[in-house]
Amino acid sequence: MSVKSDDKKYIANTYARFPVQIVRGSGSLAYDENGKEYIDLGSGIAVNIFGFSDKSWIDAVTEQLNTFQHTSNLYYTSPCVTLAKILCERTGMQRVFFCNSGAEANECAIKAARRYAELSGRKNSKIITLVNSFHGRTITTLAATGQDSFHNDFLPLTDGFLYTPANDIESFKKLVQQNDVSAVMFECVQGEGGVLPLDKDYVLQLEKTARENDILLIVDEVQTGNGRTGKLYSYMNFGICPDIVTTAKGLGGGLPIGAAMLGGRVKDVLSVGMHGSTFGGNPVCCAGAINIINRIDDALLCDVMRKSKLITDALSNADGIKSVSGMGLMLGIETRRDAGEIISECIDKGVLVIKAKNKLRLLPALNIPDDLLIKAVEIIKSACAV
Ligand SMILES: *Cc1c(COP(=O)(O)O)cnc(C)c1O
Repeated sequence: MSVKSDDKKYIANTYARFPVQIVRGSGSLAYDENGKEYIDLGSGIAVNIFGFSDKSWIDAVTEQLNTFQHTSNLYYTSPCVTLAKILCERTGMQRVFFCNSGAEANECAIKAARRYAELSGRKNSKIITLVNSFHGRTITTLAATGQDSFHNDFLPLTDGFLYTPANDIESFKKLVQQNDVSAVMFECVQGEGGVLPLDKDYVLQLEKTARENDILLIVDEVQTGNGRTGKLYSYMNFGICPDIVTTAKGLGGGLPIGAAMLGGRVKDVLSVGMHGSTFGGNPVCCAGAINIINRIDDALLCDVMRKSKLITDALSNADGIKSVSGMGLMLGIETRRDAGEIISECIDKGVLVIKAKNKLRLLPALNIPDDLLIKAVEIIKSACAV
C-alpha cells in the first residue's frame, strides 16, 4: 500500500499536495515517511499554535477525553461555557456561538447580521466584503469571498453581498449610500489574498462610517486570531470595537473548532432554534482551546513580535526578496524567483513553507524556538537569492 498513490486514487482531487507524507511531529519539527526532519513554518495553516504534540495541550485534551468526549447541545457542559467566558472576558464580546470551522463561524456571523437587520425591519439588506478577501468554501462564505476566481464554477451563489476594494474608503462610503447595508466583514490582514494588512486609517474610517449608518462590523479572525499578529485578535492592533468576531484555525490548537463572538448589539439576535451545530462546543475541542487561549499571554505575544522582527530584519533587504508584508508571525514574502520553485527547494532542504497568491507565507508556531527559526530563515534566504 502506498499512501501517495492511494491518496491520488481515493481522495477527492481538491488539493495540490506537496510530495511529503507527514508521519509525526514534535514542537516545530515534522518528520516524513523516510524519517527526514523538517522545520514547520506553516503550522497546518496557522493551526498548531504551540506546534506538534504539545505536552500541556495533550494533557488538557486527554483529561477531557477520559471524562466524556461528547454529548449534545441539549445538555449543559462545562468546557464550552468556560471557553466562552474566557473569550468574552478577553475581547469584550458578550456571547459565543461554537461551531467547527472558519467557514461555519462566518456563516453564523452572516446569519446574525441578517437577523439584526430583519429585526429592525430591513429586509434584503446587503453585507459588504472586500475585494481579495477570503471567508470560506461553503456557498455563502464563497459569496462573501471577494475573488471571482473562487466563484465561477459554482454559480448561483448566495445573494446579498457587495464588494469594495480594500483601503479605498470612498468606494465603501459610496456603496453605503447606494444600498441598504447591514454589515461589513473583513480580515485585518488578508491571508489567502496575499498577507496584506489593511491600512490603520482605513479600518478606523470603516468603523466610523459603519457606526454612522447602523452597519455591523464583522472581523474575520479565522487566520489572524489567537495570537498570530501579536495581539490575541488582530483587530486589537487597530483600536476598533467589532460587533462580531469570528475565529477558528488556531483556536483549538489542532482540533476542529470555530467561534462566532457576538458583541452587545447582536448578542441576542439569534434565539432558540435559529442556529445550531451537532459538534459545536464539543467538550474535547473546547478543552484544547481553553488550554491554548489561557497560554496566549502578554509574554507570549511580546515574543511573537520579537520573532516577527527577527524574520523581517533577516529577509527585508535580502537578495531576491522584493518585499515582506504582514503582522506578527503571519508574514508574506514577495520574491523575484517563482515562489513554487523556492518552496520545493526549501522542502528539499528541510523547511516547510506555504504560499499565498504569488508569495511565500510564513505561519510558524508561536513558540517556535529561536534556533529553528533562524535556521529556517537562512534556508529561505538562500533559496530566494537570485
Ligand atoms: C481559512 C479561512 C477561512 C475558512 O476556514 P475553514 O476552517 O477552512 O472553513 C475563513 N476565513 C479566513 C480569513 C481564513 O483564513
